[in-house]
Amino acid sequence: MTPWIPTIPLFKPSPRSPNNCHQPSLLISDLFHHETLKWNTVMLQALFEKDSVREISKIHVSKDPNIKYIWTPSCSGRCSTSSAYLSAISSRYSTNAILASSNFWKSIWKLNLNDRLRLFLWKIAWNILPTKERLNSIFPSNLEACPLCKVLEDSLQHLFFNCSFARIIWRSSSWPLDSTALNFSNMRDWINLILYPGAMLGIPIEDHHRFQIFASVACDILWSSRNKAYHDGTTFDDLQVSRNVNKLTLEHFEAWHKSSISLVEKWIPPPPGWFKINYDTAIQDSFSVQAAVCCNNSGNIIRMTSQISSKCLPNIGEAMAVLLAVPLASSSNIKKFILEGDSLVVILALLNPNFSQDWRISPIILKTLDSIPASSSWRARKVNRSANFCAHSVTHWAATRFSSGSIPITPPTPSIRIVSGKDPSSLVLVC
Ligand SMILES: [Zn+2]
Repeated sequence: MTPWIPTIPLFKPSPRSPNNCHQPSLLISDLFHHETLKWNTVMLQALFEKDSVREISKIHVSKDPNIKYIWTPSCSGRCSTSSAYLSAISSRYSTNAILASSNFWKSIWKLNLNDRLRLFLWKIAWNILPTKERLNSIFPSNLEACPLCKVLEDSLQHLFFNCSFARIIWRSSSWPLDSTALNFSNMRDWINLILYPGAMLGIPIEDHHRFQIFASVACDILWSSRNKAYHDGTTFDDLQVSRNVNKLTLEHFEAWHKSSISLVEKWIPPPPGWFKINYDTAIQDSFSVQAAVCCNNSGNIIRMTSQISSKCLPNIGEAMAVLLAVPLASSSNIKKFILEGDSLVVILALLNPNFSQDWRISPIILKTLDSIPASSSWRARKVNRSANFCAHSVTHWAATRFSSGSIPITPPTPSIRIVSGKDPSSLVLVC
């Protein structure tokens, strides 16, 4: 049997009966309806096990006659030296609990810190900062004293918790802590505490971000001071180092707060003669929802629709939402429209389908582009969630009611209160 399903091990479906494996005349193209490009579920269920049918049903059949190879270990579907290397070494780490807990690493990259601090925390978690203790584990030599306090050993545990410099930093913080009590032998536990300070330290949720900045900046300044002392012989004043940590924490916090305010983007009406279709998706525990809202240039909602689909990856959900959005224009004879969503991957794929960053969405994007009449003018634009609020709220409304299909605009049903004419981002849907 030819391997052809990208989302299961070895790419081969499980047949319901061993006899099903030996049908050489049966082609994949025999398994779907050519007019609708939908899978023939009766046939699939007769031939394959339930799990295989579910995975096959997730594949979107494309009209694109060109068959190309997909490198499934990489998100883009293209093979590169780095993705081939990572694929080759992945078996080495299959039992490594750290690598297995991908949520831990994802949480580090999602922290509201600048990229340099996130990378620094990542290095701490991997224990790859070259302290004398770390180097000694690779190239045995004499242990050296901490370059800052000149006492005890040069290790991350000492530098971050026991060093007199660290103790002063923590005692003069907004969370006066005895850092020696934090003495983690595993740096991953320390990063876990930074990620979830409420669980271990009881820090209130409104203070989490400031604490995360403080802890990261403190470690960063301690590490850079240690390096300057070690390499250049620079001497530091512990109180001055502590003041620097507090000053930098404040600067980072204010800079982050300002940039998050500027991220609030408003819905902008399309130019006269144009329409705008906002689309979005929501992934629930057992299903996904897509929704699309079409507005004219006065901000009046012309059409709304939603659909319930099987649970899927977020990018696939976004791609299915844009596939749902296009018919809103064509069925209303709209010739000029702007597609707006909050997934950059989907917008880039629409604008350049040959270079999609996620191969899984390519068939859906090609189907979407195929459904746009050649006589139409269209654009696609990535917006922040705040400017996509109308589609976002319809998605959640549809998820709550498990509602699929066109949503009536006039006359409003008792369950929908529509605020139109100004800014559809103030759309209110009452469940
Ligand atoms: Zn020290």
